[in-house]
Amino acid sequence: MLLEPPVATSHPLPSLLRYVDHDLMQNIAIHNHPTHFNATCPVCFFQWDTPIVTSVSTTGLPNTTPHPESAASSTFLPLSPCGHWMHYRCLIWLTTQTGSDAKDKCFVCHKQLFEWDGITALTLATRTGLQLDDHNKGGNFHPNTRIWTPSDKVEYESECGLIVSLIEVHFFAQLNLPSCFADGSPDLVRAYQNVLDELDRMKKPKAKWLRWTTHTGWLLQGMLVAIKMRRFLVEAHEGIRQTEGWRAFEEGISVLQKSILEEVHKP
Ligand SMILES: [Zn+2]
Ligand SMILES: [Zn+2]
Repeated sequence: MLLEPPVATSHPLPSLLRYVDHDLMQNIAIHNHPTHFNATCPVCFFQWDTPIVTSVSTTGLPNTTPHPESAASSTFLPLSPCGHWMHYRCLIWLTTQTGSDAKDKCFVCHKQLFEWDGITALTLATRTGLQLDDHNKGGNFHPNTRIWTPSDKVEYESECGLIVSLIEVHFFAQLNLPSCFADGSPDLVRAYQNVLDELDRMKKPKAKWLRWTTHTGWLLQGMLVAIKMRRFLVEAHEGIRQTEGWRAFEEGISVLQKSILEEVHKP
C-alpha cells in the first residue's frame, strides 16, 4: 500500500469525482435524451445538441462559441438529485471557477451537489481539456501584513516544482542506502512515502489547486505525486524499469488506482 489513510472525515455529500463518475452515470440511458428536443443548456445558452467548445473568458463567464466543424459535442445530462439539465462540459467548467461560491452547486437551483476540492477539480478539468480559473491572477499584496500572495497558478506551479525536487532528493537518498531487493535496486516505494511524509511535515501542498478536503481528494493527491515520480524516473533513469524496485512501485500505483475506483463506485 503506497498510502496510509488519514483520519476519516464524513461528508454527507459525494466527492466531486464520485458525483461525476458515479452519481451522474446512474441514469446514463437518458443522457442526450432531454424532455424537449430543442432544450437549451442554462450555462452556455446553446441548444443541447450544438457542437461547442468552452473556454474561460476574463469576465469569468463561459465564453462559448459554436464550432460546427471542429468541436466535439458534450453529453447533455440531468443533474442528480435536482434534475436540471446541462452539458457535462459546462458542469465541469463550473467546477473550474475556483473563486466562485457556485462551483459546487447546480447553476439553476443553486443546490449544493458535491464536496469540491482543488485537486479533484484540477483532475477533472485536465481530463476534460479545461483549465482551472486563475482566480487570484497577478497575486495580491496585503498592506497590513505586507505579505504578497502569488496567484493560484503561480502557487500551484511552485508547489509542483517543490514536489519534483523532493522526489529527486528522496530517490537519490535511497540510492545511497542498502537495498532490500535481490537485484540491489532502490526502494522506490520508501522514497515515495518519504516524499509524502516530508510534504506533510511542511504542511504542503497549500496551493488552492492541489488542496484536498475529501478522502477522494487525498487519494488523488497521492496519485499526482506518484505520476510525477514515475515521469521523473522514466525520463531521467530509463534503466530503472527493469528493476524489482520499479515493479514494487508500479504495483503500489495499481493498488492506489484501485482504491480510487473503489472510493468512487462504492455502494
Ligand atoms: Zn452548455
Ligand atoms: Zn438544480
